[in-house]
Amino acid sequence: MDNLFFNEEHFMLIDMVRDFAKTEIAPIAQDMDNNGKIPKEIISQMADLGLMGIPVPEKYGGAGMDTVAYAAAVMELAKVDASVAITMAAHTSLGSMPIAIAGTEEQKQKYLPNLASGKIIGAFGLTEPGAGSDAGSTKTTAELDGDEYVVNGGKIFITNSSLAGILTLTTNIIENGENKGIGALIVETDNPGLKIGPKEKKMGWRASDTRQLFFENMRVPKENVLGQPTDGFKTFLKTLIGGRISVSALSCGTAEGAFQKALQYSTERNAFGKEINKFQAVGFKLADMATDIEAAKLLTFHAAWMKDQGKDVLKQAAQAKLFASEAAMRITTEAIQILGGYGYVKEYDVERFFRDAKVLEIGEGTSEVQRMIISKELVKTFNKAT
Ligand SMILES: Cc1cc2nc3c(=O)[nH]c(=O)nc-3n(C[C@H](O)[C@H](O)[C@H](O)COP(=O)(O)OP(=O)(O)OC[C@H]3O[C@@H](n4cnc5c(N)ncnc54)[C@H](O)[C@@H]3O)c2cc1C
Repeated sequence: MDNLFFNEEHFMLIDMVRDFAKTEIAPIAQDMDNNGKIPKEIISQMADLGLMGIPVPEKYGGAGMDTVAYAAAVMELAKVDASVAITMAAHTSLGSMPIAIAGTEEQKQKYLPNLASGKIIGAFGLTEPGAGSDAGSTKTTAELDGDEYVVNGGKIFITNSSLAGILTLTTNIIENGENKGIGALIVETDNPGLKIGPKEKKMGWRASDTRQLFFENMRVPKENVLGQPTDGFKTFLKTLIGGRISVSALSCGTAEGAFQKALQYSTERNAFGKEINKFQAVGFKLADMATDIEAAKLLTFHAAWMKDQGKDVLKQAAQAKLFASEAAMRITTEAIQILGGYGYVKEYDVERFFRDAKVLEIGEGTSEVQRMIISKELVKTFNKAT
């Protein structure tokens, strides 16, 4: 499969990220999970390796690589630690890409080089207490007052909240008392109107930073509107398509990480006088897990490759995300089963992979939302053809 999507540059990137993940992340993955924190040095090292701006155009300080490269890097990180992978992925596909997709030339020049170099971290604020899957129900308002918008409201579950220097958020744009629709604003996080809540205590992705944000008369200059004032929601939906490829890659990595542990264990553990992989019940599990991973990777890299060809990948990204995230849940569950009691304790890491897998079926559109997107696209294509 690899030769189908990867060129020499991709293979070099993959080797570099694999080596970094093995030497720098793997030894501290359990500690990060226990402490709920990623050491700053890990993020600086990723920045030094050029991992914080893989798909950002070179003109704006990024590596100018394609979505296939970006997905491959996310996957390699997730094979070892999903919290590190989501920190990089949320920064890139959610924090930086809305500006790359819809920013004005001035906004791109002002923000992208610092984001791509990892000098500042990006975050993306869409979800609110009453607006998750139904993201269009956002209640946050930005009321124009002279040359500034005055923003009130808040966001929940925002990844990279306290690490971020830049936050892009959706809000209702109010001008002259009239609601013009949902737009997006770029906010510099030293804004005194921004309050950041305590870190959420999560089941998985424990070292990743997830918090609630509050906007209290937060004044944002008018020039920080992302693109056209009322195009923000469209931009975010477009951003989420790329984000789903990220989550697919994360899912493949998480699944592969757990699978490799289970495969290795099955060669080391003996019962009834033989390696446990010799029992068909275990061997067939391994076969199904490997087949699921291969299918998930094919869907992920196919969606990434199509996006790189400039195609509309709404359906493909949703299918990849749906399949890969549900496969990750199946595979991490079976990995625990293969390790028996040792799978349930922390020593062998598979319980961490299992806890990290669940959110993949929720973030950036739940499995139900992906099925809605896919079925709508199927009917649309059918109606067009008939
Ligand atoms: C760890 C973590 C990190 C996150 N990071 C970010 C971030 O950086 N930025 C951000 O903006 N958000 C972030 N989120 C939020 C995430 O995207 C939302 O949680 C997700 O979109 C689901 O929204 P919700 O939690 O409000 O669930 P709801 O939308 O309330 O859904 C509840 C249930 O109802 C189902 N449901 C809802 N509508 C329908 C429907 N029409 N048909 C069928 N079923 C339906 C859902 O599938 C789900 O099972 C994060 C969440 C987590 C847990």
